[in-house]
Amino acid sequence: REQEAKVVGMDKNDYKDVWVYIELAEGQPRNVSLELLGEGRKLADAMGQKLAAVLIGGKVEGVAKDLFANGADQVYLIEAPELAHYTTDGYTAVVTDLINNYKPSVILLGATNDGRDLGPRVACRVGTGLTADCTDLGIDEATGLVAWTRPAFGGNIMATILCPEHRPQMGTVRPSVFKKPVPDATKTGEIIRVESVAKAEDIRTKLIEVIKVCTGSCNLEEAEIIISGGRGMGKPENFSLVEDLANVLGGSVGASRAVVEAGWKPHMHQVGQTGKTVGPKIYIAAGISGAIQHVAGMSSSDVVIAINKDPDAPIFRMADFGIVGDVCEVLPLLTEEFKKI
Ligand code: FAD
Repeated sequence: REQEAKVVGMDKNDYKDVWVYIELAEGQPRNVSLELLGEGRKLADAMGQKLAAVLIGGKVEGVAKDLFANGADQVYLIEAPELAHYTTDGYTAVVTDLINNYKPSVILLGATNDGRDLGPRVACRVGTGLTADCTDLGIDEATGLVAWTRPAFGGNIMATILCPEHRPQMGTVRPSVFKKPVPDATKTGEIIRVESVAKAEDIRTKLIEVIKVCTGSCNLEEAEIIISGGRGMGKPENFSLVEDLANVLGGSVGASRAVVEAGWKPHMHQVGQTGKTVGPKIYIAAGISGAIQHVAGMSSSDVVIAINKDPDAPIFRMADFGIVGDVCEVLPLLTEEFKKI
């Protein structure tokens, strides 16, 4: 009822500007936050509004200049010792308070673990909806609203969703679907300092230790080089050939859904429509046919190299370089050659 009352009393004209929630990893903005600044800039320009970044942490003011360089006009800066690490309670309280006071029209968050935790909770608190896991953004010409596109019905259709009745319009967006903007270090902006409303005693979780279960080889979304294996690898043991090449190149290991469904690799390695969306500088597809659902997750890679024994495999149609051959022969040769560099 409290939520309904908020919606009934809402004047949509009070809401303006596009916000991007900035997620930090070891003190630096994650790639997805910069990608969203680039995309947020386009939305803000199309709507004739400002682009603001929401920057929360212990001592993070130094990050603001990067956010201006990547397109933000303003940075809402909330610093407090108890905000040094992400917590559901603390960050929800801060972002909810910020929205209630400053009333943004649009909020973009990365579809990461934190973004998926924070976004829906905040949306509920401020009485609006949220489109999760978007793969495209635009402006709906008829209404001027943000058009949020995301896979629906198990990835079988792409749905475009509008949020006509509520504000802010909120959504989480998958990492790597957009390119990072080219930074302009001369660009500056306004820092708006906001007092934190998060009280230490209200934060019910405490960070004791960070244990990395996913090191370089499965950090696909931030990877610059990815080597992915498909069913053509033949058997799970052969995946060591993919891993060897990844080690030599300092890359991450991806997989097709066929491989994940066969239990050769966990889902965290899956690239594609129902896996991760990636945008590395180099993507090597080994023994992958190039089904449309796989390509949906890697088509924004800068350079694609395909290895397949079938010269007519669909992956060759979108690859920049192709090697027709057996993965079990080609991968060790590549690994040996790259070792020499
Ligand atoms: P295959 O299609 O079996 O291809 C294997 C390839 O390896 C062939 O081209 C073959 O020529 C080649 N090959 C075989 N042996 C060798 C060898 N020794 N050396 C070199 N090449 C060899 N798929 C995804 O990957 N990601 C997704 O997120 C995803 N989501 C989906 C969502 C939906 C709703 C649906 C319906 C499907 C989805 N799929 C997804 C599945 C997709 O349609 C394909 O079935 C899958 O990508 C096939 O995986 P693959 O290329 O490894 O296997």
